[in-house]
Amino acid sequence: MTHLFDTHAHVNFNAFREDADEVLRRALEAGISVVNVGSQLSTSRRAVEYAKKFSPEAKPPIGGLASQDGNGGQASIGVYAAIGLHPIQLRKRSFEHRDDENDWELPATEIKTIGEGFDYDAYLELACDPHVVAIGEVGLDYHHFEEGDDVEAMKEEQKRVLREFVRLANEVGKPMMIHCWGVKSDKSSYPRAGVKSSKLDHARTAVIPNQFDQSRTDVTTNQLDHARTDAYDDLLGLFDETAPEKKGIIHSFIGSHKTAKKFLERGWNIGINGIATYSDSYDRLIREVPLDRIVVETDCPYLAPGPHKGERNEPALVRLVAEKIASVKEISYDEVARVTTANAKKLFGIRS
Ligand SMILES: [Zn+2]
Ligand SMILES: [Zn+2]
Repeated sequence: MTHLFDTHAHVNFNAFREDADEVLRRALEAGISVVNVGSQLSTSRRAVEYAKKFSPEAKPPIGGLASQDGNGGQASIGVYAAIGLHPIQLRKRSFEHRDDENDWELPATEIKTIGEGFDYDAYLELACDPHVVAIGEVGLDYHHFEEGDDVEAMKEEQKRVLREFVRLANEVGKPMMIHCWGVKSDKSSYPRAGVKSSKLDHARTAVIPNQFDQSRTDVTTNQLDHARTDAYDDLLGLFDETAPEKKGIIHSFIGSHKTAKKFLERGWNIGINGIATYSDSYDRLIREVPLDRIVVETDCPYLAPGPHKGERNEPALVRLVAEKIASVKEISYDEVARVTTANAKKLFGIRS
């Protein structure tokens, strides 16, 4: 069986409240290891619980499965955890989410955040658990600011918490799982003619910086490039000052191949998910990032790949992300599976 590694899943979220065990078992039986990623203290704790229950050492049929790898050896397949505080969780609010922001036909789901204060010691205690393979998701999110937000203060708050998590990752000697999304500034920020105005449209346009507001026809390519890379530039600056020793993954990467190169030069890996299957926008990125620096992920329940767009995503569908990479790079699916799995295991310190 070809082993795959879904390096970023949220089966620990409420979307899987009814059937998380089934979903994880389905992934394990398909030869897919999973990292469940916490976005606040409660989901981080749940990620650790699942990792204990479905670890490769736990006895089948509940635990991970020991299967033959392609070379006749034993490959341990299991569930692991990452723990962190997502930057959007720093404030309490609710917003609508669409998997593909360019597809207004898709149903939107509501995401509610809690406004959690960062507690270093609580996360440190979780981080020491041997089932925890990465610290995250943590990072910068300038994508979900709303009208009236004190944007500069919120950016500073996100950076302050991220620096603390870098300190924590270095203290426990584990890699990081980084979320980094810039200001909405591509064409998705501009509701198409005929799309009726809604609260969502309002939220979308509200994040556009002032100079974009006066006349949308003024927007130059440079301004757009700047807005799209602002969070990545801030992240690079922050890492240059406070360096995560074990590096890690820039998950759900939505920057250009040029931005990716800056992270690659600093030793980071790039996480590719279902977004890459929605269009050919990320083909160049996929071509230019070496396979041995790519990991695959679902970010489920969000971002279901191509044919499943808009449905609840799950780790078993990570196969479609690997297929997209194979087709763009013109290499075999097996090679993508083998190399991206090896990348994940090496990064997370998983043997066999
Ligand atoms: Zn994320
Ligand atoms: Zn996520």
